[in-house]
Amino acid sequence: MRIGLYPGTFDPVTLGHVDIIQRGMALVDRLVIGVAINRDKAPLFSLEERVAMVQAECAPILARTGGEIIVHPFENLLIDCARDVGATLILRGLRAVADFEYEFQMVGMNRALDASIETVFMMADARRQAIASKLVKEIARLGGDVSKFVTPPVAAALARKYG
Ligand code: ADP
Repeated sequence: MRIGLYPGTFDPVTLGHVDIIQRGMALVDRLVIGVAINRDKAPLFSLEERVAMVQAECAPILARTGGEIIVHPFENLLIDCARDVGATLILRGLRAVADFEYEFQMVGMNRALDASIETVFMMADARRQAIASKLVKEIARLGGDVSKFVTPPVAAALARKYG
């Protein structure tokens, strides 16, 4: 049984994340979506809210792809989280060149910590590559239309947050 871990902050989950989750499902039997507590990033949504939103997005994906998805909050080291859930691969999405430098370092460090866990990068569909949670929040905060970037329940949650 091949288990993959897709970690992130998911503040909130976007159509970019959904795209990567769908693609990741083709590589593994079980995808564990690791929702990081990430206190440093001071998330807009609580951990519980982020987990619930990711869970809601996964139901239609599972209906299409089959397989198994587990949403798993975590606060420890990524590599320890991967070991805890039995993952042999870590899945990450790549957007712009700007992501590369950070991801490059992460792979190097994680490999030094545990060489048996491989990191796999995927790119979203061209229309979804530019989507970033940070910009989605900015647009929602300023009253813009986020319907091209997130699903209607997430758009509604953003509207509630920003009143
Ligand atoms: P993190 O704080 O770990 O970067 P994010 O929730 O921002 O958490 O992103 C989680 C993962 O999803 C990262 O690997 C990120 O590159 C990827 N990702 C986010 N948006 C997109 C997108 N539009 N296309 C491809 N990958 C994406």
